[in-house]
Amino acid sequence: MAVIIAHRGASGYLPEHTLAAKAMAYAMNADFLEQDVVATRDDQLVVLHDIFLDRVTDVAERFPRRARTDGRYYVRDFDLDEIRRLTVSERVTETGLPVYPGRFPPRGGHFRVHTFADELQLVSGLNQATGKQTGVYPEIKRPAWHRREGFDLTSAFLQELSTHGYQTREDPIFVQCFDAAEVRRVRHELACGLRLVQLIGENDWQEADTDYKYLRSDRGLTELADTVDAVGPWLNQLYAVEPRSGAPVSTGLAERAHDAGLLVHPYTFRADDLPAGFRRFEDLVRFFAFDIGVDGMFTDFPDLVSRLLAEPRG
Ligand code: CA
Repeated sequence: MAVIIAHRGASGYLPEHTLAAKAMAYAMNADFLEQDVVATRDDQLVVLHDIFLDRVTDVAERFPRRARTDGRYYVRDFDLDEIRRLTVSERVTETGLPVYPGRFPPRGGHFRVHTFADELQLVSGLNQATGKQTGVYPEIKRPAWHRREGFDLTSAFLQELSTHGYQTREDPIFVQCFDAAEVRRVRHELACGLRLVQLIGENDWQEADTDYKYLRSDRGLTELADTVDAVGPWLNQLYAVEPRSGAPVSTGLAERAHDAGLLVHPYTFRADDLPAGFRRFEDLVRFFAFDIGVDGMFTDFPDLVSRLLAEPRG
């Protein structure tokens, strides 16, 4: 059965990466809660999807003079104390419109940015209180960019995990990253024993250091399996729409990855943003879970996926 990874928490219902969204995902019985981890000016690790603050907080109103010349407000330019004073809200576009209009209203609620440690404590506290063993699924965000900013994000990230008891491959955790060189460093240089996931970018908009050669050849996938336990592809890389019937068919990538010994955890399953070839969320989830046979699914809607995976095939 595919594991359910709550993508930025139950982000279909509450602003992404807030503790509220994480608690809700936990209560929805997600198997793993996702964290994206970036560093502040004072080298604190916080849970935010971007190296920028401007799409999910009121930073531009609170600190109007602190943008870089590109107009963006960088997490790295603020101390944790300052970031903690910001209000987090539903993600908006460059022009201030909600990215997903049917979700939580863009203004409203009392949400804050929290640290990676805050979230690891939330999960361990909930695990103690409920007796469940919900896992974490943290991502090292833009490690090469952080290095250029003078900070080794990866080492601090791994240290934080170790402090919170995540040390071996039996622990309920997957560590994910897009940067293939950094993933190799984590495994072979830093000797990290945790389960690792090589994320595969949607296309070329992701970081330039994403390594696509792995997808092209079976040898590449076998090589990758020397370093990681799983791949995290964009779900569109796993299927194509058959032109005549309009039916989705596997591209074979998931099968090839399985043959190489890799787990396959595609992203992102959204009930309010269906990819081509699917008219209902249940068709999408069932196709990936049962026809392709993926091992895990990143979703903004952990409750819906959980219900669909539990139902007998109809
Ligand atoms: Ca992520």
